[in-house]
Amino acid sequence: MTAPADISGVRLIIDLAALTRNWKRLGEFAPRAETAAVVKADAYGLGLTEVVPALVEAGCRSFFVADPSEALAVRALTPQSRVFVLSGLNEANRGLYREHRLTPVLNSVEDIAVWREAAKDQTSPLPAALHVDTGMNRLGLRIEEARSVSTDASGLGNVRLELVMSHLACADQPANPMTGEQRSRFEAVRALFPGTPASLANSAGILQNAALGFDLTRPGIALYGGEAIEGAMGPMEVVVTAQARIVQVRDVRKGERIGYGATHECADDSRIAIAAIGYGDGYHRIASGSGVPLRKLLPGAHGHVAGERVPLVGRISMDLAAFDISALPDKYVKQGDWIEVFGENVALDDVARAAGTIGYELLTALSRRAERHYLPVHTRTH
Ligand SMILES: *Cc1c(COP(=O)(O)O)cnc(C)c1O
Repeated sequence: MTAPADISGVRLIIDLAALTRNWKRLGEFAPRAETAAVVKADAYGLGLTEVVPALVEAGCRSFFVADPSEALAVRALTPQSRVFVLSGLNEANRGLYREHRLTPVLNSVEDIAVWREAAKDQTSPLPAALHVDTGMNRLGLRIEEARSVSTDASGLGNVRLELVMSHLACADQPANPMTGEQRSRFEAVRALFPGTPASLANSAGILQNAALGFDLTRPGIALYGGEAIEGAMGPMEVVVTAQARIVQVRDVRKGERIGYGATHECADDSRIAIAAIGYGDGYHRIASGSGVPLRKLLPGAHGHVAGERVPLVGRISMDLAAFDISALPDKYVKQGDWIEVFGENVALDDVARAAGTIGYELLTALSRRAERHYLPVHTRTH
């Protein structure tokens, strides 16, 4: 790893060893299934270029991405793995799928026709996954359509199904009966394609019930240390720590106000740390809490500095945020120090809750201007 330049206001510490441990642990939840990895949206904001090789080294051989452009990036990093593309096959790009050996997830009768046409003149069959909707109504064939595909022997032409899959809508809520309903519909779908490996579970499905694992699992968020099931990290480790540089420490008198809109009035003389992070870095303004009009009054986010949890005060700006460090002894925190905004001490999902959102959105919004420090899978000695 090159020496950090330390010139950015925000640094992200991304622990690739924790990531691969999370991947292995997810595998233990469904020991009979292959564990794939969902790396769409630049590996949930962590960086494909680093995440994919780390997972390949750990043994991962199947990757899922959202669209063909991401698929090309993954293909360039791993010539041997299967790269499943969740959406975006069309007549214009089907040649690209063939050329780069991408596996399209066929979501509709139209998709099947496009891929069958692409496979027509090939000497060996082209692989595909078939996505059947079991209740989410996002992507996938209707069950009746899947039944027609299964009974029409010539319908797939020279296309070889490597996977039949569906996606869970409510697995993050273990008590929700919809998961059970989707599971039984999926059992019926799977029976239409005997011998074809089946896949249903996202992170929450894997952690919730081993019976949802089938032949291949598709974890995303849990790999990256986000809560798949609300309020439960389970055995997953934190992967990303975001820290902001404190660019000023100021004394603010009782009755004075802080930030845009002057929303926060200091109830006492206070010491305030101004940190170089804001919504321009993906630290959403709405995490300011009641300083921003919200449908529901939520408490604001916290930071962690010098061993102490400290509240965010006032509104988050584009590049700056203020934290009340009055609880810490004088001179304990100084300009140039780093404050954690999420990571080991401040849970990613706590910040997400303060912003009325989910960890997924915080991670995928992570700044491109932040300095990224990747902790390697192995500490190499040269
Ligand atoms: C994003 C996605 C996943 C991964 O979901 P997580 O909740 O992040 O584990 C799995 N399958 C499909 C079809 C997806 O779109």
